[in-house]
Amino acid sequence: MTRFDPPGGRPWGLFGLCGASLLLNLVLGTRLLMMPEPPPAPGRLVADGPAPAAVVAAHDTPRVVPAEPVADEPVAAAEKVEVLEEVVAPAVPSDIRVRSLDVSHSLARTFSDGLGDDGRFVSAVFARLFVFDLDLRRDIQKGDSLAVAWRGEGPDVEVVAARYTSKKRGTLTAYRYQVEGERYPRWFDAEGNDVSRELLNSPIDGYEQITSLLHDRPTHRGMDFKADDGTPIKSGANGVVTRTNWNTGANGGCIEVRYADGTVAKYLHLSQVGVKEGERVQQGAVLGLSGNTGRSTAPHLHYELAKNDKVVDPIDYHGVRRPVVPAADRAAFDATVAELDGWLSGGA
Ligand SMILES: [Zn+2]
Repeated sequence: MTRFDPPGGRPWGLFGLCGASLLLNLVLGTRLLMMPEPPPAPGRLVADGPAPAAVVAAHDTPRVVPAEPVADEPVAAAEKVEVLEEVVAPAVPSDIRVRSLDVSHSLARTFSDGLGDDGRFVSAVFARLFVFDLDLRRDIQKGDSLAVAWRGEGPDVEVVAARYTSKKRGTLTAYRYQVEGERYPRWFDAEGNDVSRELLNSPIDGYEQITSLLHDRPTHRGMDFKADDGTPIKSGANGVVTRTNWNTGANGGCIEVRYADGTVAKYLHLSQVGVKEGERVQQGAVLGLSGNTGRSTAPHLHYELAKNDKVVDPIDYHGVRRPVVPAADRAAFDATVAELDGWLSGGA
């Protein structure tokens, strides 16, 4: 019914690939030549027993350490044991930051007080993780606490583990885990339940995350799905296309479908519209491609439902399912949870 051409033909793609690979080789070659000798890896030693030969050698031979100076003075045997025991405790990778915070105000304020400039970015990602289980306006209470482990800065913040201990909702957890064969990592609680939900007969598959729900903001009338530009969007039910591309300044590329029961669905910010007004569509039919057009700051699909001019929550309309970690991934997932818990408990 609808076909979409990939951007750019094959010859250009090949040409680009060759060019990119040549450039990469050049850059890597140069970097290798310029690379200083890496600093010695922190010793993962057992507390008792003699130090391995390599470590002894490192102490005997003076060596140039490029970045962070390592304390290299000889230590008394008793002190040494103490230091080595610390190394054996769960090691948090150097690119991961961990914080534990007492909640005293709103979540946003708690994060900005505790984390400074990065607070609002970590706060936004954190809130998004628990959007289905924690109502930011009603459930946040003084006396709650949280812990979070993340990497990256500013808008690139990536939360790898999060825990919220709520007086009202109990303890909520989220651990980032990439299921074998899936495109995006997901976040699961300690029992392996997805922290998010999936709409039945979803208007989009292959999205990265649901970033906001109907009631997240008083003025928001739909649900947002963070998805790469060009992700197929699908009709949530059988219906007829009633409008396309109206008010494009705000909506960008857009499609309106009247479902058979009279519910009107809007799909906004599309990069391609693949249907015409008056066209009949079946549930699951591809209508177009998601994008970042109109009043939109990042690639996502905005999906909105209304009946008799009253907004309808897509969660109520569609119903939801809650994915779980597949059985084949269970052992790897449990190991990940144990590791990430170690990081969270090491937070300042
Ligand atoms: Zn939206």
